[in-house]
Amino acid sequence: MQPTLNLDHFLTDDDCDIGDEYASVVDAALDMRRKFSSVLRQARQLKTTLQAKQADLEHERQRLELRTIAETSRNKLRQQSRRLRQCKDDNRSLRLQNQELASRLEVARKELEKVDHLRCTLCTVAFKDAMLPCGHTACRVCLDLWIGQGNDCPWCRRSFEVGDIRDLYLADPSATADALEEDGDVTDVISLASDSE
Ligand SMILES: [Zn+2]
Ligand SMILES: [Zn+2]
Repeated sequence: MQPTLNLDHFLTDDDCDIGDEYASVVDAALDMRRKFSSVLRQARQLKTTLQAKQADLEHERQRLELRTIAETSRNKLRQQSRRLRQCKDDNRSLRLQNQELASRLEVARKELEKVDHLRCTLCTVAFKDAMLPCGHTACRVCLDLWIGQGNDCPWCRRSFEVGDIRDLYLADPSATADALEEDGDVTDVISLASDSE
């Protein structure tokens, strides 16, 4: 049987105390190391969580940015379609005005056609306002120009005196000849109504 070494025989009571103290310091150090690694683990977890949160936030920020852009685009689109509607309305109103003007123009053209036979056949612009003794008529300006060339009718060649040229008065068909003749000077009245009427 091998003899066992009993340390107690070599250690005094004081030595025993140092041994205990060393053991407790080692325990405390081990405990600290455990706690430190636990804290380190928690810190790593927190960092991971924080990064995930930051990614979420960034994602949310981008989403909001996109939504703002979409909202702005929608507003612009709304404004543009409002403007387009306004343009369409203006266009419609202009088209109506145009139609209205065209129909008024047509009425005016027909009115002018009605009095076409009253236009001077020499200049085709002015109305007949003078009559020669032969009965042929023209505007005074044309007759005055004609008189410079000779005192005979441009149509039938019958000669006339300047003093024989009579004034013609255009009258509305509803106006009575009596009313016009009260003037005394009036000699002839051409009705505004066309010959067929
Ligand atoms: Zn004329
Ligand atoms: Zn004549």
